[in-house]
Amino acid sequence: MIIKPRIKGFLCTTSHPVGCEKDVVLQIAHVKHRGVVEHGPKRVLVIGASGGYGLATRISAAFGSGASTIGVFFERPSVKNRTASPGWYKSAAFTKLAEEEGLYAKNLNGDAFSEELKAATIALIKADLGQVDMVVYSVAAPARQVPGGELVRSTLKPIGEPFEGSTIDINSSEIRSIALEPASVEEVNDTVKVMGGEDWELWIAALLEANVLAEGCITTNYTYLGSEVTWPIYYHGTIGKAKEDLDRAALALREPMASVNGHAYVAVMKGLMTQAASAIPGMSVYLSLLFKIMKSNGTHEGCIEQTTRLFLERLFTGDINDLALDEKGRIRLDDWELTPEVQDQVKALWHTVSEENLNEISDFAGYQAAYLQMHGFGFGEVDYEAEVDQVVEMSLAFGD
Ligand code: NAD
Repeated sequence: MIIKPRIKGFLCTTSHPVGCEKDVVLQIAHVKHRGVVEHGPKRVLVIGASGGYGLATRISAAFGSGASTIGVFFERPSVKNRTASPGWYKSAAFTKLAEEEGLYAKNLNGDAFSEELKAATIALIKADLGQVDMVVYSVAAPARQVPGGELVRSTLKPIGEPFEGSTIDINSSEIRSIALEPASVEEVNDTVKVMGGEDWELWIAALLEANVLAEGCITTNYTYLGSEVTWPIYYHGTIGKAKEDLDRAALALREPMASVNGHAYVAVMKGLMTQAASAIPGMSVYLSLLFKIMKSNGTHEGCIEQTTRLFLERLFTGDINDLALDEKGRIRLDDWELTPEVQDQVKALWHTVSEENLNEISDFAGYQAAYLQMHGFGFGEVDYEAEVDQVVEMSLAFGD
């Protein structure tokens, strides 16, 4: 079939297999260009391995450190005339390209919150790798099925006060006002249940219990603090409460991880266009402004630049007891985003964005391009008029 982007609201319902592979190829090229991570991990489990930060981490581990990787994700294969989800195509491409270079790569497709998937992952580690040296938790999920079957949903709402802001329609570039009522206590608690640290702790407990974490194992989870202008909807909102819970979980994991001389860290990453970020109200305005400023400073990064910097310049510099951490024990990769120069410029422009000046004062075009590329569209060397087979097979150790 000939595949074109089909966008409804902030959702693109199609994705392009050749473009998704191109995206993975470019990420691999970046990692190779940055060079070998000498002290990097050799056996890595990534939970949430098919999207923005998780996929980039997997690519950094495999192609920077030569690591064997196991990826856990929740993706949709192509059914009938529907294209697969971008994460399906990208994981299939990653697996093919890793195997071509002799790297072990296996995948489990299903619900990371379930005990079944945890057990299947442990069985795979035992059978193939024995143990892992690194566990990356990078799940961004809208909902979580808790034991007993109840489905708990996360929400993106302010706390205490209503939020009024603007969002840019990805298709038409129209700026629309958004108004959100504050979350209820239940909505806050549910968001923490889905996006907080509990499932990370459950994974680590299960992996430790099964003795599949190697001596010195490192586990990481990703958080976002962001700019003062987005705090009302992000860091001071429901999702921020869930992110605070990650800091709690990292502290709580210190003791169990010490049993294998291991460590647990939260890494604060830069704001970027990913599937999860595209759903956050008001983020389009902030990221469009940010991209313009950081690109003109020469400090703009995508997920792969961030995770490669995490590996090369933060986590695996040779002495794990001498990491640069902030006052809460977190690794900071949002340093360039949060410099006063960048933030002062964002704040100065924040209330002036209009449809008339959008392309002048912001990089909405870059934001739009990143959105399309996330779905495999807009890569120069891909022929989007050509017929492609939307069915891409991927062998799975779990799920279908
Ligand atoms: P993403 O949407 O690109 O990827 C999410 C991943 O989670 C995918 O691999 C998806 O398959 C997986 N997933 C979702 N539900 C699942 C389930 N039930 N079981 C198994 N896998 C499931 O998101 P992202 O932006 O890369 O987010 C990853 C982490 O990084 C999140 O914790 C997010 O808050 C954090 N982060 C994101 C940004 C940003 O700007 N995008 C910035 C800092 C931190």
